[in-house]
Amino acid sequence: MERLLFVCPKTGRQIDVGVETEIDTLLRIKGKMLRAACPACGRSHEWPVSEAALPKAA
Ligand SMILES: [Zn+2]
Repeated sequence: MERLLFVCPKTGRQIDVGVETEIDTLLRIKGKMLRAACPACGRSHEWPVSEAALPKAA
């Protein structure tokens, strides 16, 4: 499972929205929007899944 990271549009910080997905699922939902509560500013944002950044592989 990969954790999805997004950039908070309000603070510019990269945040972990707590969503985990498999790469194949990720590719399948690439054109969708994902809405989640933002731990950086406390609001919720919507991001295109294609904008998700994956943590660097160890
Ligand atoms: Zn935010």
